[in-house]
Amino acid sequence: MTDAIIIDGNSFAAGLRARIGRQVAVLTKRHGIIPGLAAVLVGDDPASQIYVRSKEKQTAEAGMASMGRRLDSGTSQEDLLAIVNELNADPGVHGILVQLPLPDQIYTRAIIKAVEPAKDVDGFHPINVGRLVNGEDALVPCTPLGCTMMLKDVLGDLTGLNAVIVGRSAIVGKPMAQLLLAENCTVTVSHSRTRDLPAVCRNADILVAAVGRPQMIKGDWIKPGATVIDVGINRIEAPGRGVGKTRLVGDVAFDEAVKIAGAITPVPGGVGPTTIACLLRNTLTACCRQNNIDVPDDSGE
Ligand code: NAD
Repeated sequence: MTDAIIIDGNSFAAGLRARIGRQVAVLTKRHGIIPGLAAVLVGDDPASQIYVRSKEKQTAEAGMASMGRRLDSGTSQEDLLAIVNELNADPGVHGILVQLPLPDQIYTRAIIKAVEPAKDVDGFHPINVGRLVNGEDALVPCTPLGCTMMLKDVLGDLTGLNAVIVGRSAIVGKPMAQLLLAENCTVTVSHSRTRDLPAVCRNADILVAAVGRPQMIKGDWIKPGATVIDVGINRIEAPGRGVGKTRLVGDVAFDEAVKIAGAITPVPGGVGPTTIACLLRNTLTACCRQNNIDVPDDSGE
């Protein structure tokens, strides 16, 4: 068997960002509106700082306004709620994201619920979760949205395919299941208590791994020709690169899987870049909905 097609998330995301940039330009020219995204970062977690910086850079590159808030790690729940409410009321802010994880003194669910659903570009608010389940217009969590877009790009129509999702988190696994159901897949959600996970995975035409365990899914768990989306981001030691060096790997044993799958996302360079592009897409969608206008196509003007 020949090796799988490697799904290039960097190039897919670049195409998506360029399209969003053109749509924003049309929106601004026709309606004088600049979509605004406010990223709220509490504390100094290094990974969160990198994510937020990257999100802000790409927001600006797409022609949107980026109004970040940096708060110190001791910020109280009350103060954070006050800031979220201020952003909710600001007409120049169309999307709000509060970078997770939050420090221990803050009750995360209360903050998620405080974000105005129309501005909830992470798609975590219960109203958006419910709308997604009901098949209504929702703001959809960025990672599963990006995975679905990549799957459609690779496979076209997903109707009737067996999709297995490993992981049932509210951020990835559960919304991924809803999106693939909406694409007419037959969906199985597996998790830490699933019996005989390898056998469940072997039934998958589409296998989405969102576990957070390095290289857990082995090559012989994969149905020959399946499309594999590896959401996991795990840092492991890489002694070959020098003392104390590390590298990023996914939840799938890539070197084995690439020989069996039909197509696979690498880590890094697969799902990650598409997630941020979908955040920009959600901000544009939120902005247009708040202004009662259609999202412009990118061919005009
Ligand atoms: P989570 O910890 O909230 O959920 C993990 C899920 O995996 C749980 O539902 C659990 O039941 C399941 N699980 C754990 N051990 C298992 C096992 N042995 N067998 C089967 N299932 C098992 O994690 P999450 O937030 O969904 O993130 C999952 C991974 O995806 C992490 O590595 C995270 O860093 C990554 N992630 C990447 C992006 C991205 O943009 N690429 C975005 C979000 C999360």
